[in-house]
Amino acid sequence: PPGAPAETAPAEVAVVGAGLVGCLTACFLARRGHAVTLYERRPDPREAGAERGRSINLAISERGLDALRRVGLDETVLKAALPMPGRMMHAADGTLSFQPYSADGRRAINSISRSALNRTLLEAVDALPGTRLRFRHRLSALDPDTGAMEFATHGGTVTAVSPVILGADGAGSAVRAQLQTRPGFDLHQEYLDYGYKELTIPARGGDFALDPGALHIWPRGRSMMIALPNPDRSFTCTLFWPHRQLTALDTPEKVTAHFAEHYPDARALIPDLAADYALNPIGHLVTVRCAPWTVRGRAAMVGLIGDAAHAIVPFYGQGANCGFEDCVELDRCLAETGDDYAAALALYESRRKVNADTIARLALDNFVEMRDKVASRAFLARKRAEHALERALPGRYVSRYELISFSTVPYADVERRMARQRRWTAAATLTGTLTAAGAALGAGALLRRWRGPVTPAARSRGSRPAGRR
Ligand code: FAD
Repeated sequence: PPGAPAETAPAEVAVVGAGLVGCLTACFLARRGHAVTLYERRPDPREAGAERGRSINLAISERGLDALRRVGLDETVLKAALPMPGRMMHAADGTLSFQPYSADGRRAINSISRSALNRTLLEAVDALPGTRLRFRHRLSALDPDTGAMEFATHGGTVTAVSPVILGADGAGSAVRAQLQTRPGFDLHQEYLDYGYKELTIPARGGDFALDPGALHIWPRGRSMMIALPNPDRSFTCTLFWPHRQLTALDTPEKVTAHFAEHYPDARALIPDLAADYALNPIGHLVTVRCAPWTVRGRAAMVGLIGDAAHAIVPFYGQGANCGFEDCVELDRCLAETGDDYAAALALYESRRKVNADTIARLALDNFVEMRDKVASRAFLARKRAEHALERALPGRYVSRYELISFSTVPYADVERRMARQRRWTAAATLTGTLTAAGAALGAGALLRRWRGPVTPAARSRGSRPAGRR
């Protein structure tokens, strides 16, 4: 009402994109008492069923769970999840080797159905007061100065205006595309030469065909396949292959022969291999870096969140986890700034950008580790040594994987800690080497004293004095 203090009026926010991050953002904002309208180009997935072309399942770890816990959804989500406490490597000759993710072997990342997670989040948004869901609304235009938006719908163009607009519309963000036309907006998109394709290992005799307590990896040097378990006892496999290789297998015979040679154990478990391969689309793998994430117009604020701000490749299993952390940070910044969106979005960007850049780099690095290094004995030995060090120095030495997957330490701080750990393990190794060398020198001196000076004659006979042979 006129004259009412500004802070009692609920902030009005438009969130574009009702994927994982858009829905969680809406939950956090609605819990702050803000009025949120969520616009989504797809039909309501609760009616239309799961979408194809995106990964069917994904691994959620501590960062994602922490965010879900804050809105009371962690237990619901975990009920339908399958814990994976380690990776299972499949060699080309069928040999299996299991490697736990944590030093105590107990911590797990969780395989979750993307569509089930999205439905849970949508239902949570729907249940909160002050929220509105608009499906089949594809953002087609946006004026960051005024907050005016246009949506393409089945019934024609629909317009809306909002003083705060958050783009949570994924890697190919339409909101970001509208900001891109402004001077000073920086955008880097880095596509890998690799694509991905999904296949299904169905349940066998009503049970899992592989151990469900692991993320399965078939490392093959330049390429790889992974598989995550689903609650219906199937596995979703994802091939990460160079585009050339994905398109080269253009007949059922070539597909079958390739799998028989490189993935013989999996080949036996995928009855519809050639048909699945031909039907399932090829996805692209992109890293998106852009700045700024926040644009302040004359009468509106626009911000980017989740993949729209920082799409990353999936090799650390962190894209959604990182997007969920964005939601926590935005909520924190709103709390710290008294729900002043201009200040909160600027603070959010200043805190999150460095972390998003860090995990983008780590995710790219981890591709080489997953497809190649995990297969080597040296890698397994290094991991065993790392876990032994973690057990010997609990809390003081923690592996990068554990800090990324099982903590909420900001990604950039993880890297700072890694640098510190490297320095003191190098120093400790040096000290150890010097101590060992010192001990050896000391022992040598004692030995010399005990057996007398080594004469040239004694040296020519060997190291020990004749009388002691
Ligand atoms: P999206 O999930 O892309 O959602 C964007 C939403 O916006 C969609 O619903 C879309 O329909 C909608 N939209 C788009 N354009 C418009 C428009 N113009 N108007 C209105 N709505 C629009 N992450 C993990 O944490 N762990 C994993 O194990 C993992 N595995 C992955 C495996 C693969 C193969 C891939 C590709 C990704 C994986 N990820 C993983 C990353 C994860 O999927 C993304 O980080 C996450 O989905 C990002 O969520 P988002 O809501 O920002 O974007």
